[in-house]
Amino acid sequence: MALLADRSAMPIYVDNGAKAMAQAEMWFGAGRGGEDLVVLLIGTGVGAGIITQGNLYRGTTNSAGEWGHTVVEINGRSCRCGSRGCLEAYIGASHIIERLRDVEPNSHLLQQDAQILAIPVIIEAAHSGDTTAVRIVDENIHYLGVGIASLLNLFNPRVIVIGGWVGSQLGVHFLTQIQRITGRYALRQPFSVATITLLQLGKDAIAVGRLHSC
Ligand SMILES: [Zn+2]
Repeated sequence: MALLADRSAMPIYVDNGAKAMAQAEMWFGAGRGGEDLVVLLIGTGVGAGIITQGNLYRGTTNSAGEWGHTVVEINGRSCRCGSRGCLEAYIGASHIIERLRDVEPNSHLLQQDAQILAIPVIIEAAHSGDTTAVRIVDENIHYLGVGIASLLNLFNPRVIVIGGWVGSQLGVHFLTQIQRITGRYALRQPFSVATITLLQLGKDAIAVGRLHSC
C-alpha cells in the first residue's frame, strides 16, 4: 500500500471487499434506513460484511465476516484455507465447476475454461432445467441457505444482501428457493423479520463503500 501511495497523487485505501460492499449497501442500497445488515460476497471466494447498529463489525483483528470458512461438513471437502468442510468449498465458483466435473466429466457445460465464463452457462442451464446443472445448483443453493440461516441466527439482521458475481447470478434466478431453504434452517423469529434480497449497487459498490467511509 505504501508503494502505491508513493506513486499516486490520489489517496489509496485498502479494505476487504465484503466489508466495503456492506458499507455501500447500508448507505446507498438495500440497507438504507436500517442499522443491521449483512452483505454476502459470493464469487470465487466467499465472505460477509456485517453491520450491527449502524457500524461495521470488524472484530479484534479485522477478521470478522469470514463466513466462507464456517464449517458446514465435518471432514468435508478441502478448502483453500487448509481446513475441510468450509462453506466456501460448497458454494463458491470453484466448487460449482468441480462438482460438475465429478458428476459429468464430459459435460457440454464445461467447454469454457475460465470460471467467469463457465458459471453463467451452468446457472442458465439450471434455470432452463438441464438435469445435471439443476442438481449442482440445487446443492449450491442448499448450502447457501444453511449459511444464511446461521447468519440470521447469529446476528439477527434486518436485511441480508446477496452479492458477488456468483451470488448475484444465482440470486437473479433462484432467490425464492434460497429464501425457502434459509427458512428451513433459521430460527423462526429472526427469519420472520429479515429480508433476503439482491445487491442493489452492482460491481462498483466496493469502491463506493470504501471511499465514503474515509
Ligand atoms: Zn476454509
